[in-house]
Amino acid sequence: MRNLLYILLLSIILFTGCNQQEKKQTLPYVVMLSMDGFRWDYTDMVETPNFDKIASKGVKARTLKPSFPTKTFPNHYSIATGLYPDHHGIVLNSFYDPETNRHYAISDREAVEDGSFYGGEPIWVTAEKQGVLSGSYFWVGSEAEIAGYRPTYWKKYDNGFSYSQRIDSVIAWLQKPETIRPHLILWYFDEPDHSGHKYGPGSMEIMRKVEQLDSLLGVFLNKLEKLPVANEVNVIVTSDHGMGPVSNDRKVVLSDHIPTEWTEEVQGYNPNFCIKAKDGFEDYIYEALVYTEGVTAWKSEEVPERLHYGTNPRTLDIVVVADSAWSVVLDPDQRVGKGAHGFDNDNIDMHTIFFAYGPAFKVDYVSPTFENVDIYPLICEILNLDPAPVDGTLEHVKGLLKE
Ligand code: AMP
Ligand code: ZN
Ligand code: ZN
Repeated sequence: MRNLLYILLLSIILFTGCNQQEKKQTLPYVVMLSMDGFRWDYTDMVETPNFDKIASKGVKARTLKPSFPTKTFPNHYSIATGLYPDHHGIVLNSFYDPETNRHYAISDREAVEDGSFYGGEPIWVTAEKQGVLSGSYFWVGSEAEIAGYRPTYWKKYDNGFSYSQRIDSVIAWLQKPETIRPHLILWYFDEPDHSGHKYGPGSMEIMRKVEQLDSLLGVFLNKLEKLPVANEVNVIVTSDHGMGPVSNDRKVVLSDHIPTEWTEEVQGYNPNFCIKAKDGFEDYIYEALVYTEGVTAWKSEEVPERLHYGTNPRTLDIVVVADSAWSVVLDPDQRVGKGAHGFDNDNIDMHTIFFAYGPAFKVDYVSPTFENVDIYPLICEILNLDPAPVDGTLEHVKGLLKE
């Protein structure tokens, strides 16, 4: 009897050991690139053979719906955490935290690198906690230590690094010896956002930029295909938001409507602001803006449910967003470019792209629109990670995956 028990115990140990070995050996890779401000329909405006190649070898979403406000930092961090900006705390590219009396801005290196601003659990933290190595080349939030973790490989943001250098670094990470090779890589290009702001989303310049990005994608895919791990890599190409046309003819100047004596904090940038009123002035500000053509203003507690915004103290007292194609600026001299984002996430111009292929994904499949908070549970599923509690839902994106 005792012998039988020993044999049983030994087989259980051996079986679990083998299984863990197998889990480790078969763990795939996820390499996710964000091209900032890539509107959902840019790939229909010009020839993009490399995006088309991903779509035919894998999947694409009709559109990817960003979170509100449709700005860069809130959305990259929503993709990373699976949480809406109201829940992860990066509520705008610049904000005031009334609880700690501190300011955050993307131009303030100290703030960007201060983990205490970042809520939720970014996917690289989930991975590192569970023994999966990760690398980030400029993904928002990855320059800070969050909940005691950083990606194994990460870099300080510096726009001076060419896209070719970024491609080569990502390829080099995938060539590291297996024991130190990251299985999750997030990386970032700041275009076509910049061109979209400057020249507008329908411009010739944006079309040329999209063609250039497509060919860079081709360079990356060619290099990737030559790697020994090529068949184990799931490639995702996505973005934070789209781009809408704006013009100096449709502009609301905040100082024309609300005198500075009424406000304690005015945070944000066209087309989004969060305002903290001086005592007794909240209703004055609200009344002044709610009847102004070209903007929508809410008391934070009255922001519509569908936007998932306004409960975080960092959204302050009043939330302001320009209506489609309008701008909101602080003073009359401020010019706007030809494109902007930050608008309501139901505005289709704010929608963006999701392309992916690899062993986890179906072939030649177009999925309905899903939300960017669904990407976190999708990656957890592919990498066999236990997800943190999030706003995103695996069910919304399960259709992208092979059965
Ligand atoms: P926006 O269009 O204002 O929402 O922000 C886009 C800008 O964010 C881009 O031009 C990037 O240069 C900048 N950006 C992206 N990631 C970072 C980062 N990690 N640190 C500082 N700036 C960044
Ligand atoms: Zn952006
Ligand atoms: Zn932008």
